[in-house]
Amino acid sequence: MRQHIFYIFLASVFATHFSFAQSAFSTSSSDIQLQMERLDVLGSVLYFAAHPDDENTKLISYLASERKVRTAYLSLTRGDGGQNLIGTEQGIELGLIRTQELLQARKLDGGEQYFSSAFDFGFSKTPDETFNFWQKQEVLRESVWIIRKLQPDIIITRFPPDERGGHGHHQASAILAHEAFIAAADPSMFPEQLNRVEPWQAKRLLWNTATFMRLNGDDSNRLRVDIGQYNPLLGKSYGEISAVSRSQHKSQGFGAASSNGVSLEVFENVAGDKATEDLFDNIDLSWSRVPNSEPVQTAIQQLLSAFAPDKPQQSIPQLALIWQEIQKLEDGYWKERKSKEVENIILACAGIKIESLTPQLRSIEGQPVPFQTEIVVRNPDVHVELLRINEKEVGQSLPVNEVATFEGSLPKAAITQPYWLRMPHTQGKFDVAPEYFGYPMNPDMPAAYVQLKIAGVPIDIQTPIQYRYVDPVRGEVHEYLEVAPAVTASFETNHLLIQQGEQKTLQITFQRYDEKDKEIEIDIQLSSPGWKVSPKKLDLSFREGQKTIAKTIEISSVGAEQVETSLSLVYGGQKIQEIREITYNHIRRQTWFPDAETILRPIALVNPVKRVGYIMGAGDLVPEALRNIGTAVDLLDVAKISSALLTRYDAIVFGVRALNIDTRITQKLPVVYDYIRNGGVVVMQYNVNSRLQSEHFSPKPAPFTITRTRVTEEDAQVEFTDPTDPVLNYPNKITARDLDGWIQERGLYFAEDIDPGYRTPLAMSDKNEPLHNGSLLLYRMGKGKFVYTSLAFFRQLPAGVPGANRLFVNLLAKEK
Ligand SMILES: [Zn+2]
Repeated sequence: MRQHIFYIFLASVFATHFSFAQSAFSTSSSDIQLQMERLDVLGSVLYFAAHPDDENTKLISYLASERKVRTAYLSLTRGDGGQNLIGTEQGIELGLIRTQELLQARKLDGGEQYFSSAFDFGFSKTPDETFNFWQKQEVLRESVWIIRKLQPDIIITRFPPDERGGHGHHQASAILAHEAFIAAADPSMFPEQLNRVEPWQAKRLLWNTATFMRLNGDDSNRLRVDIGQYNPLLGKSYGEISAVSRSQHKSQGFGAASSNGVSLEVFENVAGDKATEDLFDNIDLSWSRVPNSEPVQTAIQQLLSAFAPDKPQQSIPQLALIWQEIQKLEDGYWKERKSKEVENIILACAGIKIESLTPQLRSIEGQPVPFQTEIVVRNPDVHVELLRINEKEVGQSLPVNEVATFEGSLPKAAITQPYWLRMPHTQGKFDVAPEYFGYPMNPDMPAAYVQLKIAGVPIDIQTPIQYRYVDPVRGEVHEYLEVAPAVTASFETNHLLIQQGEQKTLQITFQRYDEKDKEIEIDIQLSSPGWKVSPKKLDLSFREGQKTIAKTIEISSVGAEQVETSLSLVYGGQKIQEIREITYNHIRRQTWFPDAETILRPIALVNPVKRVGYIMGAGDLVPEALRNIGTAVDLLDVAKISSALLTRYDAIVFGVRALNIDTRITQKLPVVYDYIRNGGVVVMQYNVNSRLQSEHFSPKPAPFTITRTRVTEEDAQVEFTDPTDPVLNYPNKITARDLDGWIQERGLYFAEDIDPGYRTPLAMSDKNEPLHNGSLLLYRMGKGKFVYTSLAFFRQLPAGVPGANRLFVNLLAKEK
C-alpha cells in the first residue's frame, strides 16, 4: 500500500510545479520579461563535474540568462569528503550542507541542480580508484538517465579525462560524461529507462578548460566565448552574478569577488559535431525545431512586443493563447517543457503567492499533519479560480489582494529522511532507487497540491509544507516541515574506547515527541560478543509532559579477546534513530535520522596526559575525542592566552587550520614558544599555505614549507624511519597495527623542505609514489617539544581509531 501511494506521488511530482529548489522564480517584471524571452529559446545544456563548487558559475549564469537556454549542473557527488571551514560536520552531514549551498547558488545563477548517488569518499589520485568506489556502471546509468531526461544539446565538462584534471573524481567525471554522451543515444544501454525517457544524442561534448589546468596540446581546436556581458534585466553582469552564486559555497570558504568586462571562456571539442564559432554552432535554438509551431512563434512575438512591466497581468490572455497553441503540438519534450514555462509566467503575471504552513517545525511519523495553505492573487483584474486543493474540489474564485486560507491535512506523514540516506550505503555510493535518480532533495517531501485555472489554463502547483517564523535578527525564516520518529535517542559519544578490564559508563538520552508512548521498554543490542552491558533492558516511564529521560549504562569487557561491536537500541522491534540537526543561516535547516548507535572498541592505551588546552581552528571534533580517552580539554580563548594560563596544561593543541583562521593567534605565538622552552608540549595540526596568517608558525626559523601533497589511501604503506624515536615508544609502543583501521586518508598538506633540526620518524606514500616524510615533524626546544603534523587526526580521533589515539597521546606526552 505504501509503495502504491509513493508512485502516485512521484508521478505528480513530474507533472506539477515544484518550488522546492530549482531556480526560484521571482515575480518581478524584469524576471517575467526574462522568462518570456526564454520562452522563445529552445535549447538545453548540461554541465558535468564531480563536486559542489567544481561548476563554472559564470558560465551557468551566462547560459541561463544571456543565451536563455535550460542550464543544469550535474554534480556527481554531494561533496561529502571535503573539509568544512564553517563547522564540525563531516562526511554525510557536510554533503547535506553542500547540497543546500549548491541549491542556493542555482537560485542566484538560474541553473538547475542534479546529483548522482556517487559518494565523495575523499581525495582520490586516480579515476580507477574512484570507479572502484563509485560502481562505475551504476553512476553511468544515472548520468544517462539525467541526459535522457534533460535532452541537452551540448554537454560541457569541467575537467579533462586525464592527469590534467587532478583529483581522481575530476578525471572520472570527464570519463563518465563522454561515456554517457554515447550511451544516452544507444537504446541498448539501460533499456529499462526507455518506458519513461527516450534515447538522446547530444550534439557535442565540450571541455571547459581553465587556467588552473595545464593547457597543453593543439590550441586550434579550442573555441573562445566572451561571457562577460551585462544583463540590464538583472542589473548585473554575469561576473557579478557568479560572484554571489560562488560565495554560497561557504563551507568551502569560496567567497568570490565580482568581475566586469570581457571574459573569455575556452572550450575544447571532445566529441560530436565540432564547434568553431559558437557553443551552439549548427544547433537550432528556435521553435523551428518543433513541427507546426508557427502559431506559437507568432504569439510569443506579440507577447514580447506588448509586455507592459507596470501591468504584467495584461499579458495573461496572450500567455493563455500561447499555452493553447502549444497544446496543439505533438507530444514531446519541448511541448511539456514550454507548457510549464508558460504556466509559471502566468502565475508570476498574476502576482500569485502560495504557501503551505504548519504551526510547528516538527511532526511525528505516522500522524496526520494539519496545515494551512495561503493563496494571494496580488495583481488586479485577474480572474483566478481555485479548482482543487489536495484531494478536495473547491471551484471558487479567489479575491484579489486578499489572503485566502484553506485548511489541509496530510493523512499520515512519513519520516523526512533524505532519500539517499534511507538505505545503508557503501564507502563509495549511496543506494538509490531509480525513481529518485538525480534529485537534489526528496521529491516526495511533505507538500500540498493546488490546482488553479487562470484564463482557461489549468495549473497544478505543489508547495512544500513549511514552518514559518520570525527571527529577531534574520527576519522571516522558512524551514521545511520535519517528520521524526515518535521516540529518538542520542549517545553522549559515537564510539567508546575501552581497555581490557576497564569499566566505562555511557549516557543515553531518550526523547519522545508523542504523548502516547508513556511506558517504553528498550532492548540494548550488541552486534558481537565479548562485552558486558548492564542493564540489558531500559524501562523508560515518562511522566505527564516529560520529553526526555537520560539513562546511564555500564560497559565492560568479558573474556580475553575483545572485538569491536556496535551497540544499538531496539523499541517495538525497530532500531531507534537519532535526530541530527544542521543549522546555518545561509542554507535551509537540515535534519536526518541515522540509527542511534555507538561503537565499542578495544584499546590498549597508556595516557599520562591529564589536561590539554585547545586552540580551535576551522572546527574539528578532536577535543571531544580526547575527553573520550580521559584527557580533560579546555577550549582556549585566544585573546586570553598568557604564560600563566598555559602552564596549567600538559600540552597545547592547535585545531586544524588554526593559523589560516585566526590572525590573533600569530600575536600569541611568542608566548606559546616560551611555554615550550619551559617544558611545554605544543601540537600543531595541519594548515594550508594560502591565507596563512603567519610565516612564523614554528619556533624554528624557516622550518619547512606547507605543500598540497597528500597521502589519500587510508591504508597507505607507512615506514618507521627511526623506530627508536621516543614518539614511537613512549608512553605507547607504536607498531604497524596502530596504522590499521584509519579512515578516508592518512594525511594532507604535507610539509616539505624540512629543516634537518626536525625529526621525521614517519614516511608514507600512496601506491606507486615515493615515500614522503612530511606528515609528522618533531622539534625539541628548551625543555619542551614542538610537533607539527599533517596526519588526519581530525578524522581518525573522532572516529575512534585506536592506533591514531595511541599515537596522538604520544605526541602530547612530555619526552623524557
Ligand atoms: Zn572538485
